[in-house]
Amino acid sequence: MRIVIFGAPGVGKGTQAKIIATKLGIPHISTGDILRNAIKNETRLGLEAKKIVEAGNLVPDDIMAGIVKDALSDKLCQNGFILDGYPRTLDQAKLLDNIMQQLEPDNEYYIAIEVNDEEIVRRLTNRLTCKVCGSIFNISDLNDTTICPKCNGVNSFYKRKDDDEGVIRNRLLVFHSTTQPVLDYYGKQNKMIFVDGSLPVDKVAENVLSKLGV
Ligand SMILES: [Zn+2]
Repeated sequence: MRIVIFGAPGVGKGTQAKIIATKLGIPHISTGDILRNAIKNETRLGLEAKKIVEAGNLVPDDIMAGIVKDALSDKLCQNGFILDGYPRTLDQAKLLDNIMQQLEPDNEYYIAIEVNDEEIVRRLTNRLTCKVCGSIFNISDLNDTTICPKCNGVNSFYKRKDDDEGVIRNRLLVFHSTTQPVLDYYGKQNKMIFVDGSLPVDKVAENVLSKLGV
């Protein structure tokens, strides 16, 4: 079973991908991870990507597609995978179609975890991070304590720059403008499955699995 998962920042996509991967016994292929691995392992494409990343540029589509193809063609993925973080644009979606066609045929599912923007902003602006252990908490769960429940760090909470409302709204705008055409592209082929991401984590996972028929 091949799954491609989509979701705006803050919808819990990575968490869902991990749960589903564990449940189905397939690898969670995060594009951030496979890019870092390709660079670390100094594969041919990894070395090319490294030069580009070190120059402060974005890895171009052809190189990233090659890295995705290498990962998905690996033995580890022979029974399927859940791909997270790709494709982000319509061009990348078309490149992924080519890659999928070169793999052995298998069922493909495209899942979007949906949460409305106001809820995402509420979720992300309510977060505090512990600078000692890196744990992330909801302000409301902390009950005004200044001690980290995980590591007992004192006065260790701070709000990450990424969790500033303006930054979040901008990331959401970028996400919608680049990814919506991708969702429409798969939607027109009746391939998209939409799941309500506003429910508790385990409920969302249950709904995803039931829509996959497992
Ligand atoms: Zn801590």
